[in-house]
Amino acid sequence: MPVVNYEQYCQMLNKAYNNHYAYPAFNVSSMETASAVLAGLQEAKSDGIIQVSIGGASYASGATIKDKVLGAIALANYVQLVADSYDINVALHTDHCKASNINDYLLPLIEETERRRKNGLPNLFNSHMFDGSDISLSENLKISRDLLVRCAENDIVLEIETGVVGGEEDGVNNENVANEKLYSTPEDMIKAYETLNDVGGTYIIAATFGNVHGVYKPGNVKLRPTVLRDGQQALKEKYGSDKCFKFVFHGGSGSAKEEIHETLEYGVVKMNIDTDTQYAFTRPVADHVFKNYDGILKIEGNVGVKSTYDPRSYLKKAQAGMAKRVVEACEDLRSVGSHIEF
Ligand SMILES: [Zn+2]
Repeated sequence: MPVVNYEQYCQMLNKAYNNHYAYPAFNVSSMETASAVLAGLQEAKSDGIIQVSIGGASYASGATIKDKVLGAIALANYVQLVADSYDINVALHTDHCKASNINDYLLPLIEETERRRKNGLPNLFNSHMFDGSDISLSENLKISRDLLVRCAENDIVLEIETGVVGGEEDGVNNENVANEKLYSTPEDMIKAYETLNDVGGTYIIAATFGNVHGVYKPGNVKLRPTVLRDGQQALKEKYGSDKCFKFVFHGGSGSAKEEIHETLEYGVVKMNIDTDTQYAFTRPVADHVFKNYDGILKIEGNVGVKSTYDPRSYLKKAQAGMAKRVVEACEDLRSVGSHIEF
């Protein structure tokens, strides 16, 4: 299927909300990781989301080039070309963008979409995240509102964040953030609604509930999913039972299944997964190298075994390993079999 359009994406998100499942959103940084996601989604008959972090985009442009806009465009183009060969729907998203990167990352990508739309082409990305967690909530929401206006004009969904996701990922380090900031309040969420609602665009909200990026040993992460329930309830009480938040769960890697399932009851429609799929990709490579050590290395004048050092030999295994973890994520999020025929 081609990458979804705006209406289809909104339909996907609505269906997930109404049926208490969420789409896994996988970070990719290469053709291999993107293909692994598509293969895994296909196997699970699940629609899903492919996303690109600033670090991943920079890498994708060429390790020596480090042009994040170019890399994001390259990855999006790759997915748009190959997605057609799979029988599932996929949406394209960009992950965390701080206020300091709006001008050199987010806006150039939106401008690229605007150029495409003028030429009758589909959007570059379906959604973008603005992460205003390191500035005051009022400043965060003011910028979010401006961005939502621009996104709405271009059929782009905006993801915003209230609170702070702990931990470290891709150079975003929040390991020393004060504890209470890791939990959004109903007041924060209501303020977000009141600031954004009349714009008329579509937004999803990463309201934090103690989540952290990366993987921690059990017991180190104190998730409080009821934070989401309380926010949802506060919105319905103040503005009517037909209103709802569609939540995004960051730092999904390493979370307990019961906690994931609980968040699905409270309106989580997207969960980001990065660390666990990184490991699933690399683990078979380690296996390959250990098992084929003699063939991969050219020792004492020997020529080695080409079939073991051809990058395809281990990258195929890496993709299969990651695809398997993608299926597992779909099971955890109850998106297996969720594919919508448009
Ligand atoms: Zn995140």
